[in-house]
Amino acid sequence: MEPKFTEMYQKEPAGEMDGACGQVADLLDSMVDGEATAEEQRFFNSHIEECVNCFENHQKQKLLKGLISGHLKRVIVPESLAQTIKAKIQETI
Ligand SMILES: [Zn+2]
Repeated sequence: MEPKFTEMYQKEPAGEMDGACGQVADLLDSMVDGEATAEEQRFFNSHIEECVNCFENHQKQKLLKGLISGHLKRVIVPESLAQTIKAKIQETI
């Protein structure tokens, strides 16, 4: 039973993919932050061209980052709103 099980596992190309996907997952943050080196970017981009999973992860990560920074900017801008929030917080305290 055991040899057959290992054989089935080895036939899956996912074993090799996992290594690259793992590396790409590690690079996601620095890619989105623009901190990845040129070599890392090349590796990352060539991988997401072929790997839908990592491509989608990257899209999600970019979207998430955009939402967070967009949200922060909006919170910082209106001063009156900030004061209203501060007042409400003091009320609850
Ligand atoms: Zn991948």
